[in-house]
Order: sequence, then C-alpha cells, then structure tokens
Amino acid sequence: LKTQIEKNLDSVKKRIAEAAVRSGRDPKDITLIAVTKNQPVNDIKKLLELGENNLGENRSKELLEKIEVIGTKPNWHFIGHLQRNKVRYIIPFVCLIQSVDSVSLATEIDRRAREINKVQDVLLEVNVSGEPTKAGFHPDEIESKAEEIASLKNVCVKGLMMMAPFIEETELLRKYFARLKKIFDNLADKQGLQIEMKYLSMGMTNDFEVAIEEGSNMVRIGTAIFKTPGGDIYA
Ligand SMILES: *Cc1c(COP(=O)(O)O)cnc(C)c1O
Repeated sequence: LKTQIEKNLDSVKKRIAEAAVRSGRDPKDITLIAVTKNQPVNDIKKLLELGENNLGENRSKELLEKIEVIGTKPNWHFIGHLQRNKVRYIIPFVCLIQSVDSVSLATEIDRRAREINKVQDVLLEVNVSGEPTKAGFHPDEIESKAEEIASLKNVCVKGLMMMAPFIEETELLRKYFARLKKIFDNLADKQGLQIEMKYLSMGMTNDFEVAIEEGSNMVRIGTAIFKTPGGDIYA
C-alpha cells in the first residue's frame, strides 16, 4: 500500500510533467525541490527512500538541525532569507543558496566560501511584484547587481529565484512569472556577463503549474508533498 507521502509525490510529479509538456518541454528538465521546513525527520527520510534528493529549508537553525540527523547526502537548498551572520554555519553543507537578495550577502558568502575553498552556487532573488514585504532585487537593478556579484571569485551565479504573491488571480501570477522569465532570458543573452543562467526557480504548491507553463525549471514544493488527505500538514 502506498503511503500518503508517496501518493502526494506521485500526484505532484504527474502535475509537473503535464505542465512541462504543455510548455513544450521534457518533464526531466524540471527540478523538484521538496521543501521540508516544519516537517518531521521521519517523513523526510521516507521522501529520500522514494528517491527525492533535493531538499529545501528556509531557516538556518532548522537546516543545521536536520543536517545533523539526516546528513549531507541529499542536496540541501537554502531558500529563505539568510542573515549574514549565519552564512558561515551553512556554507559547508548547502549545494545552492537560492535567496541571495543583496550584494553584501553575496560578499559574505564569497568570503566564507573562500575560507573553505568552496565555490558556492547561488541564485539571485528578484522581487518581481514589488511588494514592500518581499525580499529580492528590483527588476531594474538585477543586471548591474548580477554583474557585480558575478565578479566575486567564490560565488557562482546559476540563475534567478522568485516568490510570487499569494493571490488567486492566475493571469496576474502568470504575468509575474513571465516577467522573470524575460529577465532570465535577457541575462542569459547578455554578452560579456560571466554568469550561467541555468536555473529559474519559481513555483510553489499554489502556483507551480502556472510557473512551469511560463518557463520555470525548478519548483519548490512543500505542502502538496506533505499534506494529509484532510488538507492538514503532518504536525
Ligand atoms: C515554504 C516555501 C516554499 C514551499 O511552499 P509550499 O506552499 O508549502 O509549497 C517554497 N519556497 C519558499 C521560499 C518557501 O519558504
């Protein structure tokens, strides 16, 4: 008998694949990040047994606690707001910091990565909707900031990330996702800019299909994977 997590995962993967096909792409081109924040270690282990290997956490303390128990075999993605004074603790263990939202944070990542001879892969977070409560670079400044961050030797910019606003209007969401895809393509085409635009990380439980239809190749999904049939998340 399939466990709830297995059923949820099957369904999420099917929906990802269908959205990929609708956007004319191979489902294999979409990377699923299973967001494990607030989830018990046993459920995360079940997920790893099912073959998932990319996990996302949004707080450094929780990330480090989970790593202590689960280890560094999975790829740990940091997806939340990162304080500069926490950078050095997580740097040895994370494969991708998706939420770089300032040059000063990137500079600290560069410094701490250099200390351990690592080149840290990062994504730059863009505040596409312009909500004052959201982190991220303004779309107008992303090109110059990307250039500045790309010059740091121990930081490697691999793409862009966004959090969409919590709204119901699919067509407005679609506009935000399309706007980031355009910024992503422009940066990728930019001559002389030493960055590889590989990952476009957008889409969560409520909006991942629209995000994929608009060009996302990395989705960060928590609730849809861990929910119980009643709609609650395992406590
Ligand atoms: C929690 C979180 C997610 C996943 O959200 P769900 O709605 O549970 O899928 C994705 N990205 C970030 C940055 C998050 O903090």
